[in-house]
Amino acid sequence: MCGIVGYVGDNNAQDFLISGLKRLEYRGYDSAGIVTINDDGKATLIRAKGKISNLEERLARKKRDDKIGIGHTRWATHGEPSEANAHPHRAGKLYLVHNGIIENYKELKEHLKEHEFKSETDSEVLAALINSFYGDGKYPLANAVVQALKLAKGTYGIAVISEDNPNEIVVARSGSPLVIGIGDGATLIASDASALVGHTKRAIYLNDGEVARVTKNSVDIKTLNAEPVSAKVEEIETNLAAIQKGGYEHFLLKEIMEQPESLMETLRGRVNIKDGTVRLGGPGLSEAELRKIKHLIIVGCGTAYHAGLLAAYYIEKFTPEITVEVVIASEYRYRQAYVPEDSVALIVSQSGETADTLACLREIKKQGVKTIGIVNAIGSTIAREVDGGTYVHVGPEISVASTKAFTSQVIAMVMFGLTIAEAKGVRNTIIRPYVEEIFKLPNEIREVLGAYQNTIKMEAKKYAEYEHAIYLGRDTAYPTAMEGALKLKEVSYIDANAYAFGELKHGPLALIDDRFFVMAFLPKGELYEKAVSNTQEVLARGGHVIAVTNEDSFDLPVENVIKITTSMEIFTPILMNLISQLFAYYVTVAKGLNVDQPRNLAKSVTVE
Ligand code: GLU
Repeated sequence: MCGIVGYVGDNNAQDFLISGLKRLEYRGYDSAGIVTINDDGKATLIRAKGKISNLEERLARKKRDDKIGIGHTRWATHGEPSEANAHPHRAGKLYLVHNGIIENYKELKEHLKEHEFKSETDSEVLAALINSFYGDGKYPLANAVVQALKLAKGTYGIAVISEDNPNEIVVARSGSPLVIGIGDGATLIASDASALVGHTKRAIYLNDGEVARVTKNSVDIKTLNAEPVSAKVEEIETNLAAIQKGGYEHFLLKEIMEQPESLMETLRGRVNIKDGTVRLGGPGLSEAELRKIKHLIIVGCGTAYHAGLLAAYYIEKFTPEITVEVVIASEYRYRQAYVPEDSVALIVSQSGETADTLACLREIKKQGVKTIGIVNAIGSTIAREVDGGTYVHVGPEISVASTKAFTSQVIAMVMFGLTIAEAKGVRNTIIRPYVEEIFKLPNEIREVLGAYQNTIKMEAKKYAEYEHAIYLGRDTAYPTAMEGALKLKEVSYIDANAYAFGELKHGPLALIDDRFFVMAFLPKGELYEKAVSNTQEVLARGGHVIAVTNEDSFDLPVENVIKITTSMEIFTPILMNLISQLFAYYVTVAKGLNVDQPRNLAKSVTVE
């Protein structure tokens, strides 16, 4: 989850490390640190609790012109966020930064009596273990790292440097991403290619089980078993504008507002409006393979899980003889679940690095089931390990709360479902309305965002003081309610839960009182009247209701109503979700909280 950076080259290492860490701060932000080493082997270690800005203040007093260094922005797993627990960790002449968890750190620590531990982290144990092999420095650093990693269990992306040789960085990964950037007179390290943007376009993505020795003009990669690996240099597609706020106050607002364009990217080249069909190249399944599919498993966590739930409601509506099961990755990986024959698994992850989702992918592959990635980050681990995939192409999503990725994940999965339906011979009259609405959706999104941003900005303030919220919906509006509640709780810290309208009387109705507000989603359609009746039940108990609907005749005496004007019939819930996104954003701004970096969380959950 954390951010790792490294630099070896002709220029000032501190400059790159700080700018790189700022780019990666969204991946972990409870403490940060950098270490650089000068030509005489003298190290300068700077660490600080909290944001990178705290680190920068300290750096001002310790400016160096060293040409090699590593840095880290932490998302604590072992030990509280503090300066002592911040990385880099020192052992002898070595410094290490680590992303992930060393699961057997206690056991390893027992054997490392000579090292005086200064932190509570599992990472320092790994530093000490590497140092125990490195000894007085006669043994090559890369070999010491390999020896240590053979004993370590868990997940890691690491970078290590030594005072003995201020010309090399050793990096390795297992389960946590690491990218090596090939610069001009420099080699750069990062846990996420966005830190490299503007410095180089050429990158090598390390694979699990690989260790690389990196100097300013060489990269030497081997497996843990000492087999040489020939590195594949890939192009980084992200540009600088994509990782900047572009005039918005927060990334969250920028990412909400750019959904018309980001969804366009998802659709590009995939919708044939003339024929009323969709065409997805990525999954790589033949017509015959598509026809055979009887069961879909959709695997995700958090927002990606909700995207799966919403897509499942849609896919069931137009694809006959198919069952869809949506599972939470952290649960599914430990279930003894049988995957029926003729299944295909959709593996959904914005970052493509989500640890639990990745673990499920590997388990499912073992069962011989075809896996299709619904991923955003190009070149990420999940994108590389799935059998086929559909990138959502929404560009970097930096705000911890996911917005644009959700919308595009839903539509990408629906398009995959439509591809199956087409292959199974579903009539075009059934498929076409979906395709037409998908085609219109970016524009409808633009209109809804334009029309309601200011209204929601005004209204949201009124709800900032509430402690609890209930989000309600039926059918496709139910996963929409779930996602809305998640958005609100993760950024505003209001305790928000979602229920299917029909579940109210089975318990949650007992909660309604003045501390709660209720967000009710009431899209037109078959179940509209039933949802209206349920809303009435809430009103009868004094509930403070905000209704979101596209039904003109809606006239219940709710506290607030947001009437969406749209020609959409099928994807109205996606438009309603935009309201939830804006609402969560403006409530949080009104509360004066850190919108992009909510407490306790981090983007890209690479630990279990
Ligand atoms: N487990 C390590 C720690 O708690 C690394 C956490 C991270 O990935 O930031 O320090």
